Amino acid sequence: MIELKGIAAAGGISIGPAHKVGSEEFVILREVVAWEDIPAQIQLFEEALIKTRREIIELQKRISLDMGQEEAQIFDAHLLVLEDRMLIEEVISRLKKEQLNVAYIFSEVLKKYISVFSKIEDEYLKERAADINDVGKRILRNLLGREKKGLGDVKEKVIIVAHDLSPSDTAAMHTKNVAAFVTNIGGKTSHTAIMAKSLEIPAVVGLEGITVKVNSGDILIVDGSMGIVIINPDEETLKDYQGRLEKLKGIAEKFLLVKDLAAVTTDGREVMINANIEFPDEVPSVKLHGSEGIGLYRTEFFYMNRSDSPSEDEHYHAYKYVAEEMSPHPVIIRTLDIGGDKFLSQFRIPHEMQPFLGWRAIRFCLARPDIFKLQLRAILRASVHGNLKLMYPMISGIEELQQANRLLSEAKEELTHKGLKFNDKIQVGVMIEVPSAAMTADILAKEADFFSIGTNDLIQYSLAVDRANEKVAYLYEPAHPAVLRLVKSIIDAAHQAKIKVAMCGEMAGDPSLALILLGLGLDEFSMPPQVIPELKYIIRAVGFKAAQKIANEAMKLSTGGQVEEFAQGKLAEIVK
Ligand code: PEP
Ligand code: MG
Repeated sequence: MIELKGIAAAGGISIGPAHKVGSEEFVILREVVAWEDIPAQIQLFEEALIKTRREIIELQKRISLDMGQEEAQIFDAHLLVLEDRMLIEEVISRLKKEQLNVAYIFSEVLKKYISVFSKIEDEYLKERAADINDVGKRILRNLLGREKKGLGDVKEKVIIVAHDLSPSDTAAMHTKNVAAFVTNIGGKTSHTAIMAKSLEIPAVVGLEGITVKVNSGDILIVDGSMGIVIINPDEETLKDYQGRLEKLKGIAEKFLLVKDLAAVTTDGREVMINANIEFPDEVPSVKLHGSEGIGLYRTEFFYMNRSDSPSEDEHYHAYKYVAEEMSPHPVIIRTLDIGGDKFLSQFRIPHEMQPFLGWRAIRFCLARPDIFKLQLRAILRASVHGNLKLMYPMISGIEELQQANRLLSEAKEELTHKGLKFNDKIQVGVMIEVPSAAMTADILAKEADFFSIGTNDLIQYSLAVDRANEKVAYLYEPAHPAVLRLVKSIIDAAHQAKIKVAMCGEMAGDPSLALILLGLGLDEFSMPPQVIPELKYIIRAVGFKAAQKIANEAMKLSTGGQVEEFAQGKLAEIVK
């Protein structure tokens, strides 16, 4: 039995046989072609391009129906590769010059392109190397007249094990026979992880060397919520997880019964349970899971997978749609948060030694008022269509908040000048995710309408643990006393100033910590939609006074491990 820890990409538990998917390699012979056969080779190439185009459009249509517009748009980049004149002309001119078979020439040109793109120090262009590889393999397959042995052919319910999965691979997984997937590489924001969430299957990524450690047919346990994969579990572990899975199924049914009820404790304290989204087309899932609003709309995903920036109108229509769909419930739009592990090539952010400590989020926006104000104007314009609020990420002190608010005032003036309507009283919140903001929460609270604690970053900055580095993942402890103390002091400062405090980092959706957060006085919890029913169930099962007692006791403990164990015990007493 081997247990591996990776990056939790999509929650849930699955148990099943592994199905290893190798990267598709072709043996391509180098053959000399007679001069008179060159036109036939060119025709072969053109037909392969047309066939590939048809396949991608077909796939795109299916994905758009099954998963939504946004996922389907990932393939726009593939279609662009097919239309790349430089690539096509290079193949044809080399074909004429070298008089070799087109499959060979194409594979050589492909290799050159991939190598050039993967060396570029720009995350967006690096990603394009994966697109070129993906679409290039399709063209080669069609040139060679091979059928794709895709994941769609899998007959039994399996767990896919791969070095990485391309968007086409993940899309082809839209089959009832894939129980989970695990990969060597990838991060939380990779295309693959985003798609896994939409598919609602567990996924763990960033498991260095899993393809070497696993053979097809091995039994795997995938715990996508914890980022754990167990290879060939012993009988005891298998039984333990089968028990957990059964319990999860039984409990999930219980949770679903309360999903549309208020999150109110047995002694009458009501909190709000909201959802986090990245794309507007997640709204139906948000409603389905009983959310009371959207507590975090991560707008930077809107800028991804495209080489230009969205226009003000594009922003406006996306926000208007979400505002109208969710109305009268609140929607908190988080302004652009790029940098860190999220790069957008259109902004040419230079390579930095420590991107998480660098030119990120509000720092970038304050330096680029053109980009920032465009988004602010769109949010303001959309604010008349529902209950929109906005919040700034990565605020580290009051001056940044004041500067951002000055730009907001300018954006308002610009709209007034143009005679466009907006909600002048739109609430403006501050994300508390930098320790200096947590420590000066009393000062920030004077000029903020609400707080939202971004624990994903607050934990990495306060414990000095890179949130995306699997080597130090064991130190990334939401239950660490330092984190609990910071959270408590933020909540106390907010309440002192009579403003509400939400939490939108992953910690807010951690069932074992829900009782402590409730007891500390958190007003709003925002999380991935799937966890909402469970959180509501927990809150409805406990009294506020009891939760306060649990929080007090937890605050006296010395380590994250102790807190975690204590909290799990209390939760087990309540959720039976
Ligand atoms: C956070 O840091 O907790 C947060 C919600 O923002 P993000 O995960 O997008 O950085
Ligand atoms: Mg953050």
